[in-house]
Amino acid sequence: MDRTAGSGAPRHRVVIVGGGFGGLFAARALRRGDVAITLVDRAQHHLFQPLLYQVATGILSEGQIAAPLRDVLKRHRNVECVLADVVDVDVAGKQIVAQRPGGERITLPYDDLVVAAGVRQSYFGHDEFAQWAPGMKTIADALAIRRRVFGAFELAETATDPAEQRRWLTFAVVGAGPTGVELAGQIRELATRTLRAEFRRIRPEDARVLLFDGGSAPLASFGPALSAKAATSLRELGVELHLGSIVTGVDGEGLDVRDRAGTTVRHDAGTVLWAAGVETPPVANALAKATGAVQDRAGRIEVEPDLTIPGHPEISVVGDMMNRNKLPGVAEVAMQSGLYAGRRIRHRIGSGNGNGRAKVLGPFRYYDLGSAAYLSRGNAVVSAGPVKFAGFPGWLGWLFIHIAFLTGYRNRAGAILTWAAAFARDARRERAFTTQQIERLRDVYDTPPSRD
Ligand SMILES: Cc1cc2nc3c(=O)[nH]c(=O)nc-3n(C[C@H](O)[C@H](O)[C@H](O)COP(=O)(O)OP(=O)(O)OC[C@H]3O[C@@H](n4cnc5c(N)ncnc54)[C@H](O)[C@@H]3O)c2cc1C
Repeated sequence: MDRTAGSGAPRHRVVIVGGGFGGLFAARALRRGDVAITLVDRAQHHLFQPLLYQVATGILSEGQIAAPLRDVLKRHRNVECVLADVVDVDVAGKQIVAQRPGGERITLPYDDLVVAAGVRQSYFGHDEFAQWAPGMKTIADALAIRRRVFGAFELAETATDPAEQRRWLTFAVVGAGPTGVELAGQIRELATRTLRAEFRRIRPEDARVLLFDGGSAPLASFGPALSAKAATSLRELGVELHLGSIVTGVDGEGLDVRDRAGTTVRHDAGTVLWAAGVETPPVANALAKATGAVQDRAGRIEVEPDLTIPGHPEISVVGDMMNRNKLPGVAEVAMQSGLYAGRRIRHRIGSGNGNGRAKVLGPFRYYDLGSAAYLSRGNAVVSAGPVKFAGFPGWLGWLFIHIAFLTGYRNRAGAILTWAAAFARDARRERAFTTQQIERLRDVYDTPPSRD
């Protein structure tokens, strides 16, 4: 058992589920606390999700946006990292149940639990779309999209049937939030700039990019003015906007879309990408079942003003997985809520707050520092409360935000150099992909196939 140095008393155990922004910032807030932290994540790395689309479209490498959690936390002597998938919470026994890669179950005891397991892609009850339309939440997703996007141009080049060639040169992106807008814009940019001189039979700049959304404007969360600017920029890039459109079917050759009048139209497309919705991973349901917590439609867990589950002051939920006053699922909310949860635990046990006395921290307050979305080279939109700007100033704002929050000095320096090359010479150096079918890869947490 962990013991407080010199005192022989058992150390306060904190288990953090998830090493994303929420989990990482909770661990950082507890760095000086007299606690033994176990950070459990089903991935080995902390991932900077806002730049996944740049991995998918060949600008950045996966190593530039992901840092091993052990490396990030190596100077936090009170943190132990565990690679496992948390599957259940034993609230009465104060332990979590996790599955190691390969299937073995382990339990990890806690005095305080911070759950920061994020969200995953939602197909709104149509999980069968996923095999044809990958979402973008993990490195594996971004690499799958990279393979499909650059692979589509290769397949178009060798297609002998003109209809097939047109299909491979048609890309459909579902969802016109920041991720969908960034993906759609980047596909047009790589087609019209990076790939323009590389093919002999096809004209990559003929590639069509169709962007579908059920709402009436792209980037609606940025407000009407920036949304209108985004729509204009997308049209200038050559992205075809299909608003008020609900996707009703996806298969290997395209998608069916119903418009507001109720008419369903078929669009042939060799590549369909999904950026349309999120839901919590199964661990949120397990936690809600064990604690009686209330979940919203996406599965997010409703928390008290101090970010704990009602009746369970020892369990905090932070980041994308929490529902508190409908705060948006953005990195800043995850960081601030993670920091708050860590500080609250420190104050509760009177550790690392100067006088050793327990103290109750005031309720969580979110400070909106703004959000940004990249539209095209030198063109982005930034919204920070009443302050909104677009175009080149927006792009500078976007650059500043992303450099400031990318984890690790080396990643920051590497990203700046790569962006400089991409900006000045349209270079996309990270375009390698394998032709291995991604469907043959197996999730290490799935039960291994029987040998019989
Ligand atoms: C493509 C994309 C673009 C985005 N762009 C922006 C942007 O421009 N600006 C912005 O502010 N936000 C953006 N976001 C949102 C932002 O990334 C999230 O709000 C933020 O990552 C949430 O942090 P989190 O810690 O709650 O969850 P995450 O960062 O998702 O971390 C959750 C962690 O939990 C782990 N985990 C999940 N389930 C389990 C389990 N059962 N057991 C163990 N570990 C588990 C995961 O492996 C992961 O490491 C974007 C997100 C995506 C996907």
